[in-house]
Amino acid sequence: MEKKHYKTKNNVEKVFEELKLKGLISKNIKLKSTFWTLNFQAGLFSRNVIKYNPKFSNLKEDVIRFILLHEVGHHTTGSISKELIGAIVSFLVGLYLTISFSNFLGIDIANINIFETCFITVLFFYLFFSIFRLLVPWMKKEEFDADLWAMKQLIKHYNIREPVKFIKFVFKEFERASQRINIETKPSILTKFLNFLEEILTYHPSHYERILNVEMYFMKER
Ligand SMILES: [Zn+2]
Repeated sequence: MEKKHYKTKNNVEKVFEELKLKGLISKNIKLKSTFWTLNFQAGLFSRNVIKYNPKFSNLKEDVIRFILLHEVGHHTTGSISKELIGAIVSFLVGLYLTISFSNFLGIDIANINIFETCFITVLFFYLFFSIFRLLVPWMKKEEFDADLWAMKQLIKHYNIREPVKFIKFVFKEFERASQRINIETKPSILTKFLNFLEEILTYHPSHYERILNVEMYFMKER
């Protein structure tokens, strides 16, 4: 007797397929489920993959639709990965300033003791994060653009009439789901560490700023 196995699709896979059928996600983009992503992410190095953490696979479909379109928006509106460039620039400038300052203090980098090593490490990270923070406004722009692109697709293809109300709902639902996941699945130390890194290195505007951006854009439109 032949048995057919139908793998039931989770909500993310379902919405992903639906957006592909509508032509909103191009055919060459792949969906990848991985625990290494905090929630959803457009590929940093590879532009034709959208990654998501399976813990988020049962979000409401409206929420997933917005998030996936936001990620596609990164592919569509952003020609370069600002996140990556921001990190590289911060690293190089931070390193340069650290070396210059050590030379200025008369520290011989090739031959330093443990205290000097600690001092230089702290200095380096301090400079790295300061420079990264300086670049944040420039990186935020890409997030805002991806949000607006997603919102425009939803208005056009899903008949969303009140974009502001919709985006408020999306963020509220997303926050609620994140909190529930945090309570249900006790996060591992690794997850906590990744969350911590994300927190320091965050270039994402707050939900409040993102709602405000949508609000301002669509008020002007009227
Ligand atoms: Zn984004």
